Amino acid sequence: MALTHILGFPRIGARRELKTAVEAYWAGASTLPELEAVARELRARHWQTQAEAGLGLVAIGDFAYYDQVLELSGLLGVIPPRFTAAGESVDLDLLFRMARGKGVQACGHQHAETFACEMTKWFDTNYHYIVPEFQEDQAFGIHYAGLFAQVAEARDLGHAVKPVLLGPLSYLYLGKAKGGAFDKLALLPRLLPAYRQILARLAELGADWVQLDEPILALDLPAAWRQAFAGAYASLAASPVKLLLASYFGGYEDNLDCALSLPVAGLHCDAVRAPDEAWAIAAALRAEQVLSLGLVDGRNIWRTDLRAALDRWQPLAAALGERLWLSASCSLLHVPVDLAPEQALDAELKSWLAFAAQKLAELRVLALALTQPEHPEVRTVLAASDAAVASRRSSPRVQRAEVQAAVAALRPEHARRLSPYAERARTQQAALNLPLLPTTTIGSFPQTPAIRATRKAWRTGQITEADYRAVMLREIADCVRRQEALELDVLVHGEAERNDMVEYFGELLDGVAFTENGWVQSYGSRCVKPPLIYGDVARPAAMTVEWSAAAQSLTTRPVKGMLTGPVTILAWSFPRDDLSREQVCLQLACALRQEVADLEQQGIAIIQIDEPAFREGLPLRRRDWPAYLDWAARAFRISASPVADQTQIHTHMCYAEFNDILPAIAAMDADVITIETSRSDMELLAGFEHFAYPNGIGPGVYDIHSPRVPESEEMSRLLRLALKAIPAERLWVNPDCGLKTRAWPETESALKAMVAAAREVRAEFV
Ligand code: GLN
Ligand code: ZN
Repeated sequence: MALTHILGFPRIGARRELKTAVEAYWAGASTLPELEAVARELRARHWQTQAEAGLGLVAIGDFAYYDQVLELSGLLGVIPPRFTAAGESVDLDLLFRMARGKGVQACGHQHAETFACEMTKWFDTNYHYIVPEFQEDQAFGIHYAGLFAQVAEARDLGHAVKPVLLGPLSYLYLGKAKGGAFDKLALLPRLLPAYRQILARLAELGADWVQLDEPILALDLPAAWRQAFAGAYASLAASPVKLLLASYFGGYEDNLDCALSLPVAGLHCDAVRAPDEAWAIAAALRAEQVLSLGLVDGRNIWRTDLRAALDRWQPLAAALGERLWLSASCSLLHVPVDLAPEQALDAELKSWLAFAAQKLAELRVLALALTQPEHPEVRTVLAASDAAVASRRSSPRVQRAEVQAAVAALRPEHARRLSPYAERARTQQAALNLPLLPTTTIGSFPQTPAIRATRKAWRTGQITEADYRAVMLREIADCVRRQEALELDVLVHGEAERNDMVEYFGELLDGVAFTENGWVQSYGSRCVKPPLIYGDVARPAAMTVEWSAAAQSLTTRPVKGMLTGPVTILAWSFPRDDLSREQVCLQLACALRQEVADLEQQGIAIIQIDEPAFREGLPLRRRDWPAYLDWAARAFRISASPVADQTQIHTHMCYAEFNDILPAIAAMDADVITIETSRSDMELLAGFEHFAYPNGIGPGVYDIHSPRVPESEEMSRLLRLALKAIPAERLWVNPDCGLKTRAWPETESALKAMVAAAREVRAEFV
């Protein structure tokens, strides 16, 4: 029977036990031994789950208290000098300090002022890793024994172990050279001896196989990096373990020959994203090598169509026999732990889904079915799979003719405003009569404990819907009053009624569902519960009009309507696998387009459609960028374009680094974009030398991720800097991002200083 294994299991726990334990430890409410006990219990449980599902090897080393890349940095002794006193040894507290900096407070962002290590997106997932920092004279060794202890722990529990480790090339590639630019690749000869030592230690501990992840093989790799693989792996080849080389999130493509040439005992391929490559690999494998076929989707929550999978892969199994291993496409880190306890999802929807635990069961049946297709268990499970496939394919909750017709009916004019920007800008200015350098905010105002408590009371049925609405309307009125007192030019309603900018809309749209505990780790102890887009998306009723109209009724200043854009809703959800991302995005765009039209009709003169995840959706390979940027910008324009010239459309983006996609941002044709840039000292403007952004723009003038109140002089300096690249008529004044994680006192002080800065610079123009 084919051996089954996984590249990794979610470590956070089905009820986020690790999050709770880690945060209690940070808060000083528990001790290190208590935290370690929770971690040990979770690992034991997850290994047991794998063993019970019949996996031939259990994954060790996928556990991390904060992040697996950070733990590898700890193991190798890659500790930035600012964190170590001489001679200090690596321990968990040190790793936490690297991840969190010093005085960290709990809010959704990283804190630059604490000098924590940088954090960045793990490939095209919503997981974020701690970026290793390398010095030019970086030494590598063995400094932290977590991995070895865990291998011993699993062996003691009687498991067949397969340690998992990020490979040397990917580890270097994903890190940053610090203190003067040098070539990270030059560190490789010093890094390899440490890997050899690690592999030797793992062998001593009884590991037969070690999985080395080299996901950079799914990227457009500089030639020097590709060429470095041969020498690196040759130097590891003498290690007393068998190496399984794993890449995922895409095919090897131009890196395939390189991968095939390496002296490793097996290769893993992502057969969900690159199914055809499996055959090419199988044909080229050497006689002693295995192919680990990642045929179950590790990135999404849909149940595998087992019959289709068997039909597709049976011939490969016949060709490879024992040399075929079955696996999920990538680590299961990116899906929730267990579907079984979900109570809120109805039975039909549940029958379409598989979380990590269910994916293990799928692997077991697939392996069984390949050798014993007539086994009674195989028959039963296949029948259930067939039924789920059939019901999902035909369900009226999935297939909605009116939604499909609306998307099919989209014409170029739906993705186009009536007049070009310059003309619109004149019409809007005549209607809005805003001062030069208008001031505004990004949408949310502090989500106070009172607001959260009210939402919780409403959700748990302790207060009525009417009471809840009354409290929210009071909050909105308070927020409008404070903004008037600050004399901001364009107000917002403050988003008190929103728990989360995607969840809020997901809950109001048909075709989108929510789990109770479908948590996925985003970074550190932070988890998200992505919406499941399971069917054609429709808007049964207006979603925001009531709140925006209420706010507008309280003031003569314009209040921005506030929506989350189609690209961002898609990027932060589990999307369908039976419809392209583009089509799902267009459906979302059509639903939002109706909302935009309703807002305009209710007298909302400015509507902001947030797209913070616009850049995040970029595919891993450059060649796929133009197509993505094209449909993403089009989807945005479809949502934004049902309005008259006079209605002003804003968008907002954060998470920096936009210079390489400025033309696509311009193609969205928003009248105004507010964009994060204060932390990088207006670095964005450098991009304007190559591409002049044509519409209105508000580069954030202060960083909202910190409670620090900036001086008005800092902000006027940034405004003057911005004026070198952007004419005053198109420059807006605003913070970097929404203010929901801040408290009121610092928010009001900072905005007061911001308005003063705008006035000061404005005065220079009259
Ligand atoms: N309007 C949202 C807010 O202010 C935007 C959040 C975001 O960009 N992530 O909270
Ligand atoms: Zn933002």
